[in-house]
Amino acid sequence: MRTFGGSVALVTGAGRGIGRATAKQLAAAGLRVVLTARSVDELTGAVAEIRDAGGQAAAIECDLANRRQTLGLIAAAAEPFGPIDILVNNAGVGSSGDPKPLADFNDSFWDLTIEVNLTAPYLLSKQALPHMRSRRWGRIITIASINSRIPALHAGAYVASKHGVLGFMRTLAMEHAAEGITVNCVCPGPVKTRMNDLRVQYDAQRLGRDIATHEQGMTPVGGRLAPEDIAPMVEYLASDDARMITGQAYDIDGGICMA
Ligand code: NAP
Repeated sequence: MRTFGGSVALVTGAGRGIGRATAKQLAAAGLRVVLTARSVDELTGAVAEIRDAGGQAAAIECDLANRRQTLGLIAAAAEPFGPIDILVNNAGVGSSGDPKPLADFNDSFWDLTIEVNLTAPYLLSKQALPHMRSRRWGRIITIASINSRIPALHAGAYVASKHGVLGFMRTLAMEHAAEGITVNCVCPGPVKTRMNDLRVQYDAQRLGRDIATHEQGMTPVGGRLAPEDIAPMVEYLASDDARMITGQAYDIDGGICMA
């Protein structure tokens, strides 16, 4: 069993997909987990699953595209179990919401993507830091993407937001390395979630392939990842075992990025 210098984790976008798997993983490791997203039904289901398995969890509804709600989230999340020791920035807007070449890009979709994928992790990290600094222990883990390293067609805002969040988190890591606070990113390849299902449909249609053939060729290992392939890395980075790891970004991508 891993040990943790703190006991309370906040996971954004925890109602489904990678965030839900991560919240379950952290709760199973003994942490008290606050889950947040917009979809209350999904959050309720995730919290029930955690409690049924003997874990402790609470849910908070929050729209990270709404600056006022984002700015209130850390204080609200500290109410059920106390100050936030581990922040997992997972919520994200995918490219498939409105895929277009940059020359034709929708400016509102650009703004939404940057707000949720880049500005919200910045604001949440800034608010969570005082909790962590006062205890000289903290973990900030951001679910970035292989698109933090490589581009993707018709996904300009997504790629920009994911490259940006990597740079932001490395800077944050430098600034707090001597305070017991580590800051790292996990960079998934294609994971079978609602967000990626839409992208797969878009790409398969664009390339004139059937979905099954397209999906099988998406990684060198074959097929797509599952959310449960990502969550163990988050647990590791959150644990005391990873105390000397900061400013890093780990690709979990079935072998797409080997540099
Ligand atoms: P998902 O299943 O669609 O989940 C996305 C989560 O983000 C949902 O819980 C959603 O909840 C939340 N979210 C979206 N917009 C939000 C908003 N405005 N305010 C609050 N929460 C919001 O997608 P996923 O694949 O698990 O994505 C999780 C993270 O992994 C994202 O950062 C994504 O970029 C990253 N990632 C995914 C893949 C992949 O292939 N799936 C690859 C690389 C990186 P509500 O809709 O209820 O708000």
